[in-house]
Order: sequence, then structure tokens, then C-alpha cells
Amino acid sequence: MQNRRDFLKTAAFAALGSGVVANTLFARTTPAPALFNIGKSGITPKMQLRFFPYELQLQHVFTVATYSRTTTPDVQVEIEYDGIIGYGEASMPPYLGETVQSVTAFLQKVNLEQFADPFQLDDILSYVDSLSPADTAAKAAVDIALHDLTGKLLQAPWYKLWGLNKEKTPDTTFTIGIDTPDVVRQKTRECADRFNILKVKLGRDNDKEMIETIRSVTDLPIAIDANQGWKDKHYALDMIHWLNEQGIVMIEQPMPKEQLDDTAWVTERSPLPVFADESLQRLKDIAPLKGIFTGINIKLMKCTGMREAWKMITLARALNMRVMVGCMTETSCACSAAAQLSPAVDFADLDGNLLISNDRFKGMEVIKGKITLTNLPGIGVVKA
Ligand SMILES: [Mg+2]
Repeated sequence: MQNRRDFLKTAAFAALGSGVVANTLFARTTPAPALFNIGKSGITPKMQLRFFPYELQLQHVFTVATYSRTTTPDVQVEIEYDGIIGYGEASMPPYLGETVQSVTAFLQKVNLEQFADPFQLDDILSYVDSLSPADTAAKAAVDIALHDLTGKLLQAPWYKLWGLNKEKTPDTTFTIGIDTPDVVRQKTRECADRFNILKVKLGRDNDKEMIETIRSVTDLPIAIDANQGWKDKHYALDMIHWLNEQGIVMIEQPMPKEQLDDTAWVTERSPLPVFADESLQRLKDIAPLKGIFTGINIKLMKCTGMREAWKMITLARALNMRVMVGCMTETSCACSAAAQLSPAVDFADLDGNLLISNDRFKGMEVIKGKITLTNLPGIGVVKA
């Protein structure tokens, strides 16, 4: 085995005949990142941003209290640098306020040509964030494409760059939609073999009936998303105690997002962990929620992407809070980007790509209920 001195000697010798090794060896004393500054053509390449609308087709009609829909608007993004393409995506479920028009208008303002190379993630994404106060899905699309691009240039997936263990990915929840008891029983039977944890959206007047129907078919653990549905703190706590007896493992957003005092009262007494979803969007929202919720639900489309999501996990852990990662209906592009973070979280709700029929990518898979990452670089996807 070569010791360090021998290695340096060999490397220095090799460097005489190789510009690449010379760049690597002296990178510490060279101000610009030498490896990726000169393109194949010999001239300094620039990043090029491209985007186009792509309507996601849902496999089943999606129904919530206020509306039904069969599609989700989406914009696909590509950033090309030196012949390598990074993929990103903005998914815009209507209730979040972004549209194809708003995302397109935002992306038209983004000028990446001013940056020397894609590794200046901090400068680039701070600039992108500064272009407007909102537009979080549009910003996430740029962020995801940049992460995919830089990971490909480094030939490493992001879970590795973050130092995460691929074996520690969690099971993903799969949502059983609200429907008639017969349909719920049928759907539950279909899912019970493929998943190890289910998710149920409550917050209506038939909550107990829904859980009892599922429990007539399976004993699988269940995560509950009340979607702000319980307005009274005593009612919320009673429900949580009842759910705890039914093998439920966590509760998401039990009360309206602005009822923080009531939520703190519930969380303090709850036998189950209580996670914030609608009550938070970004990094700055976490610290004020300490003591009000047990944990947070991070979604790339709400928090501007992978870079901020990683900071959110770090901060939540420092505050001794728990973390889950969720998604919208989106292709395997954004789902696989979120999955890169998943070895670092307690719960994952990454079933968005399973709900559409026109996925453009292959990436993260759910195998025996567990999120399974590819070894591909970047966000770990290829075109389907
Ligand atoms: Mg939720």
C-alpha cells in the first residue's frame, strides 16, 4: 500500500504529463475551481436554463373537501453545463397559489449566465431566492436541477455528498383516499401487501368510521393527516387518544395553522408525535414552532428545494424536533430529489410519483414499502 509521501511523489510525477492531475493537485492554491471551468470545446461554458410546462395526469380523480381534479400543473426544468444536463421540476397543486404562468414568468427572470460554474450553489440560490418573496416551487425547480447537475459533475448522488447511509431510508406512507367503506376496504387490501405504513387524511365528521373501516382489513401502522380539520383543542386531544388506541403512529397538522396556542396545548398532552405541515414553509418558520409541534414536514415545493431542506433538517435536529419529508403529486424527478434526504428523516411521505400515469423519469423506487435509492449521480434519475 502506498503511504502518503509515495502517493504525492507518484501524483506529482503523473502531473507532469497530465493537466487534469495538475489541476487536482494544486486546486487548493488556485482560486477558481479548475476542473469544471474549461469545457470540452476549450472555452469556458455557461449554464443554460430551459423549461417547459408538463401537465401531470393523475391515475385517479383527486378529491379534497373543496374540489376534485384529474391533472396537476407542472413545469419541467433543465440546466445544461458543459454538455451535462441537470433535471428539476416545479409541481403546482392549485391550493398553493403557483401556476404555470407564475412559474414561467419567474424562470424567465433567472439569469444563470452571470455565474462562473454550478458549484456556487450558495451564491446562485441566494440570488434566485432574492428575485421574489414567494414562488417557492419555481425556486425549487432551479435548486433541484442544480443539485442534479453538480452531483452528475462530481459523479456522486446527493445522499453520499451529505454523508447519509442509503440503507437507512424509511418506509414511505401511502395515502388511502376518503371514499365509501367498500372502496376504502378494497384500496386498503391492494396497498397492504405493497406498503408497511399507510396514511389517512382525516378532519371530517366520519373520521372514526374511516379508521374502523381500514382496521377491519389491516393492522399496518397508520400516519394521520388531519389537514387542520379539528377546530377545538379538547376534540383534537380526544381524537388523538382514540387514534392512539387504534395503532396510529403520528398526527400531522391537527388544528388550523394559526391556532398555535391550542396546538401547543394538544401536543403537550398528546401520546403521539404531532407534526407541522400547513403551519410551516421554510427554514425561518421552524424555531418559533419549537414546543408547539413535535416535528416538521418538509416539502421541496414549499421550502425552495434541497439546499434549504437540508438546512431545515439540521436546524430541526438541533432543536430536538422530529422530521418528515413529504411531496406533492410530481414526477420521479422531484420525488427522487426529496428521497436523497430521506435517510435523515423519521417519516417519509413520498408517494407522489406513484399517483401519476405520465412519469418522465425513473429514479427512487418503493420496494417492499421502503424507499430505495439508485446509485445514479445527482438526484438519481434517468429519463423514462
Ligand atoms: Mg399534510
